[in-house]
Amino acid sequence: MATALTEKFSRLVKTMSGQARITESNVQDMLREVRMALLEADVALPVVRDFVARVKEKALGQEVLGSLKPGQALVGIVNRELAATMGEGVSDINLAAQPPAVILMAGLQGAGKTTTTAKLAKHLIEKRKKKVLTVSGDVYRPAAIEQLKTVTKQAGAEWFPSTPDQKPLDIARAALDHAKRHYFDVLLVDTAGRLAIDEVLMAEIKQLHAALDPVETLFVVDAMQGQDAVNTAKAFKEALPLTGIILTKTDGDSRGGAALSVRQVTGVPIKFAGVSEKIDGLEVFDAERHAGRILG
Ligand code: GDP
Repeated sequence: MATALTEKFSRLVKTMSGQARITESNVQDMLREVRMALLEADVALPVVRDFVARVKEKALGQEVLGSLKPGQALVGIVNRELAATMGEGVSDINLAAQPPAVILMAGLQGAGKTTTTAKLAKHLIEKRKKKVLTVSGDVYRPAAIEQLKTVTKQAGAEWFPSTPDQKPLDIARAALDHAKRHYFDVLLVDTAGRLAIDEVLMAEIKQLHAALDPVETLFVVDAMQGQDAVNTAKAFKEALPLTGIILTKTDGDSRGGAALSVRQVTGVPIKFAGVSEKIDGLEVFDAERHAGRILG
Protein backbone atom coordinates (compact mmCIF):
# COMPACT_ATOMS: atom_id res chain seq x y z
CA MET A 1 0.00 0.00 0.00
CA ALA A 2 1.28 3.44 -0.85
CA THR A 3 1.58 5.95 1.94
CA ALA A 4 -1.05 8.62 1.60
CA LEU A 5 0.13 11.47 -0.53
CA THR A 6 -0.87 13.97 2.12
CA GLU A 7 1.40 12.25 4.65
CA LYS A 8 4.31 12.31 2.25
CA PHE A 9 3.73 15.98 1.62
CA SER A 10 3.65 16.86 5.29
CA ARG A 11 6.90 14.97 5.80
CA LEU A 12 8.49 16.96 3.00
CA VAL A 13 7.17 20.18 4.44
CA LYS A 14 8.65 19.29 7.86
CA THR A 15 12.10 18.89 6.34
CA MET A 16 11.69 22.39 4.97
CA SER A 17 10.96 23.97 8.34
CA GLY A 18 13.32 26.73 9.19
CA GLN A 19 13.17 27.99 5.62
CA ALA A 20 11.44 31.31 5.29
CA ARG A 21 9.54 30.23 2.22
CA ILE A 22 9.20 27.12 0.21
CA THR A 23 11.19 27.13 -2.97
CA GLU A 24 10.64 25.92 -6.47
CA SER A 25 12.86 22.95 -5.71
CA ASN A 26 10.60 22.02 -2.76
CA VAL A 27 7.65 22.05 -5.16
CA GLN A 28 9.61 19.80 -7.52
CA ASP A 29 10.10 17.32 -4.65
CA MET A 30 6.39 17.28 -4.00
CA LEU A 31 5.59 16.88 -7.68
CA ARG A 32 7.89 13.86 -7.72
CA GLU A 33 5.70 12.31 -5.03
CA VAL A 34 2.58 13.02 -7.10
CA ARG A 35 4.21 11.35 -10.08
CA MET A 36 5.16 8.30 -8.01
CA ALA A 37 1.67 7.98 -6.55
CA LEU A 38 0.08 8.06 -10.00
CA LEU A 39 2.54 5.55 -11.44
CA GLU A 40 1.97 3.23 -8.48
CA ALA A 41 -1.76 3.45 -9.22
CA ASP A 42 -0.99 2.29 -12.78
CA VAL A 43 -1.87 5.51 -14.55
CA ALA A 44 -0.27 5.44 -18.01
CA LEU A 45 3.01 7.37 -18.29
CA PRO A 46 1.97 9.99 -20.90
CA VAL A 47 -1.12 10.72 -18.82
CA VAL A 48 1.02 11.11 -15.69
CA ARG A 49 3.35 13.52 -17.50
CA ASP A 50 0.48 15.69 -18.70
CA PHE A 51 -1.13 15.70 -15.31
CA VAL A 52 2.04 16.63 -13.42
CA ALA A 53 2.77 19.41 -15.93
CA ARG A 54 -0.67 20.92 -15.31
CA VAL A 55 -0.26 20.69 -11.54
CA LYS A 56 3.23 22.21 -11.76
CA GLU A 57 1.99 25.23 -13.64
CA LYS A 58 -0.57 25.91 -10.92
CA ALA A 59 1.78 25.00 -8.05
CA LEU A 60 4.37 27.57 -9.03
CA GLY A 61 1.82 30.31 -8.54
CA GLN A 62 1.22 32.19 -5.31
CA GLU A 63 -1.23 29.67 -3.93
CA VAL A 64 1.57 27.30 -2.96
CA LEU A 65 4.73 29.37 -2.88
CA GLY A 66 3.10 32.07 -0.81
CA SER A 67 1.16 29.73 1.46
CA LEU A 68 1.80 29.11 5.15
CA LYS A 69 0.81 25.50 4.56
CA PRO A 70 2.31 24.74 1.16
CA GLY A 71 1.86 20.97 1.51
CA GLN A 72 -1.86 21.33 2.02
CA ALA A 73 -2.12 23.91 -0.75
CA LEU A 74 -0.46 21.50 -3.17
CA VAL A 75 -2.69 18.60 -2.11
CA GLY A 76 -5.63 20.90 -2.81
CA ILE A 77 -4.35 21.62 -6.31
CA VAL A 78 -3.74 17.92 -7.00
CA ASN A 79 -7.22 16.98 -5.80
CA ARG A 80 -8.90 19.70 -7.85
CA GLU A 81 -6.94 18.74 -10.95
CA LEU A 82 -7.84 15.07 -10.45
CA ALA A 83 -11.51 15.91 -10.04
CA ALA A 84 -11.42 18.15 -13.11
CA THR A 85 -9.77 15.44 -15.20
CA MET A 86 -12.07 12.66 -14.01
CA GLY A 87 -15.18 14.76 -14.47
CA GLU A 88 -17.38 16.22 -11.80
CA GLY A 89 -21.00 15.48 -11.17
CA VAL A 90 -22.97 12.46 -12.21
CA SER A 91 -23.82 11.62 -15.78
CA ASP A 92 -26.50 9.01 -16.20
CA ILE A 93 -27.35 7.27 -19.45
CA ASN A 94 -28.68 9.62 -22.11
CA LEU A 95 -32.01 8.38 -23.47
CA ALA A 96 -32.96 11.55 -25.34
CA ALA A 97 -33.82 9.91 -28.63
CA GLN A 98 -36.89 8.82 -30.48
CA PRO A 99 -37.58 5.41 -28.85
CA PRO A 100 -36.08 2.93 -29.00
CA ALA A 101 -32.92 4.61 -27.72
CA VAL A 102 -30.06 2.44 -28.91
CA ILE A 103 -27.05 1.82 -26.68
CA LEU A 104 -24.00 0.25 -28.32
CA MET A 105 -21.57 -1.59 -26.05
CA ALA A 106 -17.93 -1.66 -27.19
CA GLY A 107 -14.77 -3.11 -25.67
CA LEU A 108 -12.31 -5.98 -25.63
CA GLN A 109 -13.36 -9.56 -24.94
CA GLY A 110 -13.37 -10.21 -21.22
CA ALA A 111 -13.80 -6.53 -20.34
CA GLY A 112 -17.25 -7.31 -19.00
CA LYS A 113 -19.46 -6.17 -21.89
CA THR A 114 -22.08 -8.91 -21.64
CA THR A 115 -22.34 -8.74 -17.86
CA THR A 116 -22.51 -4.95 -18.01
CA THR A 117 -25.19 -5.00 -20.72
CA ALA A 118 -27.44 -6.93 -18.33
CA LYS A 119 -26.50 -4.75 -15.36
CA LEU A 120 -27.40 -1.69 -17.39
CA ALA A 121 -30.69 -3.27 -18.48
CA LYS A 122 -31.56 -3.81 -14.82
CA HIS A 123 -30.59 -0.23 -13.97
CA LEU A 124 -32.75 1.18 -16.78
CA ILE A 125 -35.72 -0.98 -15.79
CA GLU A 126 -35.55 -0.25 -12.08
CA LYS A 127 -34.28 3.32 -11.94
CA ARG A 128 -35.61 4.75 -15.20
CA LYS A 129 -38.72 2.55 -15.57
CA LYS A 130 -37.88 1.61 -19.15
CA LYS A 131 -38.86 -1.35 -21.31
CA VAL A 132 -35.54 -2.86 -22.36
CA LEU A 133 -34.52 -5.26 -25.13
CA THR A 134 -31.03 -6.77 -25.44
CA VAL A 135 -29.35 -8.39 -28.43
CA SER A 136 -25.96 -9.95 -29.02
CA GLY A 137 -24.00 -9.33 -32.20
CA ASP A 138 -21.20 -11.64 -31.07
CA VAL A 139 -21.57 -14.24 -33.82
CA TYR A 140 -18.04 -15.55 -33.25
CA ARG A 141 -18.78 -17.03 -29.83
CA PRO A 142 -22.12 -18.87 -29.59
CA ALA A 143 -21.55 -19.07 -25.82
CA ALA A 144 -21.62 -15.27 -25.68
CA ILE A 145 -25.12 -15.19 -27.20
CA GLU A 146 -26.32 -17.74 -24.64
CA GLN A 147 -24.61 -15.83 -21.85
CA LEU A 148 -26.48 -12.66 -22.80
CA LYS A 149 -29.75 -14.61 -22.85
CA THR A 150 -29.13 -15.90 -19.32
CA VAL A 151 -28.11 -12.57 -17.78
CA THR A 152 -30.87 -10.66 -19.58
CA LYS A 153 -33.38 -12.98 -17.92
CA GLN A 154 -31.80 -12.29 -14.53
CA ALA A 155 -32.11 -8.57 -15.24
CA GLY A 156 -35.80 -8.88 -16.02
CA ALA A 157 -35.34 -7.54 -19.54
CA GLU A 158 -36.23 -9.13 -22.87
CA TRP A 159 -33.70 -10.79 -25.15
CA PHE A 160 -33.79 -10.80 -28.95
CA PRO A 161 -32.48 -14.09 -30.41
CA SER A 162 -29.49 -14.20 -32.74
CA THR A 163 -27.44 -17.06 -34.18
CA PRO A 164 -23.78 -17.45 -35.22
CA ASP A 165 -24.70 -17.89 -38.91
CA GLN A 166 -26.18 -14.38 -39.11
CA LYS A 167 -24.33 -11.19 -39.96
CA PRO A 168 -24.06 -8.76 -37.01
CA LEU A 169 -25.54 -5.98 -39.13
CA ASP A 170 -28.60 -8.09 -40.01
CA ILE A 171 -29.04 -9.03 -36.35
CA ALA A 172 -28.87 -5.41 -35.29
CA ARG A 173 -31.38 -4.29 -37.92
CA ALA A 174 -33.82 -7.08 -37.04
CA ALA A 175 -33.53 -6.26 -33.33
CA LEU A 176 -34.11 -2.56 -33.99
CA ASP A 177 -37.16 -3.37 -36.09
CA HIS A 178 -38.53 -5.65 -33.35
CA ALA A 179 -37.87 -2.99 -30.71
CA LYS A 180 -39.76 -0.40 -32.77
CA ARG A 181 -42.73 -2.63 -33.44
CA HIS A 182 -43.03 -3.72 -29.81
CA TYR A 183 -42.53 -0.27 -28.31
CA PHE A 184 -39.32 -0.86 -26.43
CA ASP A 185 -37.78 2.25 -24.90
CA VAL A 186 -34.22 0.99 -25.09
CA LEU A 187 -32.27 -1.47 -27.24
CA LEU A 188 -28.93 -2.58 -25.75
CA VAL A 189 -26.57 -4.02 -28.37
CA ASP A 190 -23.77 -6.23 -27.08
CA THR A 191 -20.93 -6.64 -29.57
CA ALA A 192 -18.04 -9.01 -30.25
CA GLY A 193 -14.63 -8.25 -28.79
CA ARG A 194 -11.27 -9.90 -29.24
CA LEU A 195 -8.44 -10.18 -26.78
CA ALA A 196 -6.55 -7.44 -28.58
CA ILE A 197 -7.44 -4.64 -30.99
CA ASP A 198 -8.56 -6.20 -34.25
CA GLU A 199 -9.04 -4.31 -37.53
CA VAL A 200 -11.86 -6.53 -38.80
CA LEU A 201 -13.88 -6.17 -35.62
CA MET A 202 -13.28 -2.43 -35.52
CA ALA A 203 -14.64 -2.14 -39.07
CA GLU A 204 -17.63 -4.25 -38.05
CA ILE A 205 -18.51 -2.15 -35.00
CA LYS A 206 -18.17 1.03 -37.08
CA GLN A 207 -20.73 -0.41 -39.51
CA LEU A 208 -23.02 -1.27 -36.61
CA HIS A 209 -22.70 2.27 -35.32
CA ALA A 210 -23.58 3.74 -38.71
CA ALA A 211 -26.63 1.51 -39.09
CA LEU A 212 -27.97 1.90 -35.55
CA ASP A 213 -27.22 5.57 -34.89
CA PRO A 214 -26.98 4.93 -31.13
CA VAL A 215 -27.68 7.68 -28.61
CA GLU A 216 -24.97 6.17 -26.38
CA THR A 217 -21.81 4.38 -27.49
CA LEU A 218 -20.26 3.05 -24.31
CA PHE A 219 -16.68 1.86 -24.01
CA VAL A 220 -16.51 -0.94 -21.45
CA VAL A 221 -13.04 -1.25 -19.93
CA ASP A 222 -11.55 -3.43 -17.23
CA ALA A 223 -10.03 -1.37 -14.38
CA MET A 224 -7.53 -4.18 -13.82
CA GLN A 225 -6.08 -3.58 -17.29
CA GLY A 226 -3.95 -0.82 -15.76
CA GLN A 227 -1.56 0.86 -18.18
CA ASP A 228 -2.83 -1.12 -21.21
CA ALA A 229 -6.22 0.50 -20.87
CA VAL A 230 -4.82 3.60 -22.53
CA ASN A 231 -4.04 1.90 -25.86
CA THR A 232 -7.38 0.14 -25.93
CA ALA A 233 -9.17 3.41 -25.20
CA LYS A 234 -7.25 5.20 -27.96
CA ALA A 235 -8.16 2.57 -30.54
CA PHE A 236 -11.86 2.62 -29.66
CA LYS A 237 -11.91 6.42 -29.54
CA GLU A 238 -10.43 6.57 -33.03
CA ALA A 239 -12.96 4.08 -34.40
CA LEU A 240 -16.13 5.34 -32.71
CA PRO A 241 -17.70 8.57 -31.43
CA LEU A 242 -17.80 7.35 -27.82
CA THR A 243 -20.25 8.99 -25.45
CA GLY A 244 -19.26 7.37 -22.17
CA ILE A 245 -17.19 4.80 -20.33
CA ILE A 246 -18.10 2.00 -17.98
CA LEU A 247 -15.20 0.95 -15.79
CA THR A 248 -15.61 -2.69 -14.72
CA LYS A 249 -14.01 -4.76 -11.96
CA THR A 250 -13.33 -1.80 -9.71
CA ASP A 251 -13.79 -4.31 -6.87
CA GLY A 252 -10.42 -5.82 -7.87
CA ASP A 253 -7.30 -4.80 -6.01
CA SER A 254 -5.99 -2.33 -8.58
CA ARG A 255 -5.61 1.28 -7.46
CA GLY A 256 -7.75 2.30 -10.37
CA GLY A 257 -5.36 4.48 -12.34
CA ALA A 258 -6.99 3.20 -15.52
CA ALA A 259 -9.89 5.55 -14.76
CA LEU A 260 -7.71 8.62 -15.08
CA SER A 261 -6.00 7.28 -18.21
CA VAL A 262 -9.14 6.38 -20.14
CA ARG A 263 -10.91 9.55 -19.10
CA GLN A 264 -8.06 11.71 -20.34
CA VAL A 265 -7.54 9.79 -23.58
CA THR A 266 -11.21 9.65 -24.60
CA GLY A 267 -12.46 12.92 -23.11
CA VAL A 268 -15.83 11.30 -22.35
CA PRO A 269 -17.31 10.77 -18.87
CA ILE A 270 -17.04 7.58 -16.89
CA LYS A 271 -20.72 6.92 -16.26
CA PHE A 272 -20.77 3.72 -14.26
CA ALA A 273 -18.46 1.40 -12.36
CA GLY A 274 -18.78 -2.37 -12.10
CA VAL A 275 -18.38 -3.36 -8.45
CA SER A 276 -19.06 -7.12 -8.49
CA GLU A 277 -19.86 -10.03 -10.77
CA LYS A 278 -23.49 -9.92 -9.68
CA ILE A 279 -26.27 -8.46 -11.79
CA ASP A 280 -26.78 -5.59 -9.33
CA GLY A 281 -23.05 -4.86 -9.15
CA LEU A 282 -23.18 -1.57 -11.04
CA GLU A 283 -22.86 1.86 -9.47
CA VAL A 284 -22.98 5.39 -10.78
CA PHE A 285 -19.33 6.44 -11.03
CA ASP A 286 -18.16 8.60 -8.14
CA ALA A 287 -15.17 10.58 -9.45
CA GLU A 288 -14.24 12.07 -6.10
CA ARG A 289 -14.14 8.75 -4.30
CA HIS A 290 -12.18 7.20 -7.10
CA ALA A 291 -9.67 10.08 -7.09
CA GLY A 292 -8.94 9.37 -3.42
CA ARG A 293 -8.25 5.77 -4.27
CA ILE A 294 -5.80 6.68 -7.02
CA LEU A 295 -3.79 8.88 -4.67
CA GLY A 296 -3.57 6.05 -2.13
P1 GDP B 1 -17.19 -9.73 -22.26
O1 GDP B 1 -16.31 -10.75 -22.93
O2 GDP B 1 -16.65 -8.34 -22.42
O3 GDP B 1 -18.62 -9.84 -22.63
O4 GDP B 1 -17.04 -10.02 -20.68
P2 GDP B 1 -18.03 -10.78 -19.68
O5 GDP B 1 -19.26 -9.98 -19.45
O6 GDP B 1 -18.22 -12.18 -20.11
O7 GDP B 1 -17.18 -10.69 -18.34
C1 GDP B 1 -15.93 -11.33 -18.19
C2 GDP B 1 -15.75 -11.74 -16.73
O8 GDP B 1 -15.64 -10.58 -15.91
C3 GDP B 1 -16.93 -12.54 -16.19
O9 GDP B 1 -16.45 -13.57 -15.36
C4 GDP B 1 -17.70 -11.50 -15.36
O10 GDP B 1 -18.44 -12.10 -14.31
C5 GDP B 1 -16.58 -10.64 -14.85
N1 GDP B 1 -17.00 -9.28 -14.50
C6 GDP B 1 -17.62 -8.37 -15.29
N2 GDP B 1 -17.80 -7.20 -14.63
C7 GDP B 1 -17.29 -7.37 -13.38
C8 GDP B 1 -17.15 -6.52 -12.22
O11 GDP B 1 -17.52 -5.34 -12.19
N3 GDP B 1 -16.55 -7.08 -11.12
C9 GDP B 1 -16.10 -8.38 -11.12
N4 GDP B 1 -15.51 -8.84 -10.02
N5 GDP B 1 -16.20 -9.18 -12.20
C10 GDP B 1 -16.78 -8.70 -13.30
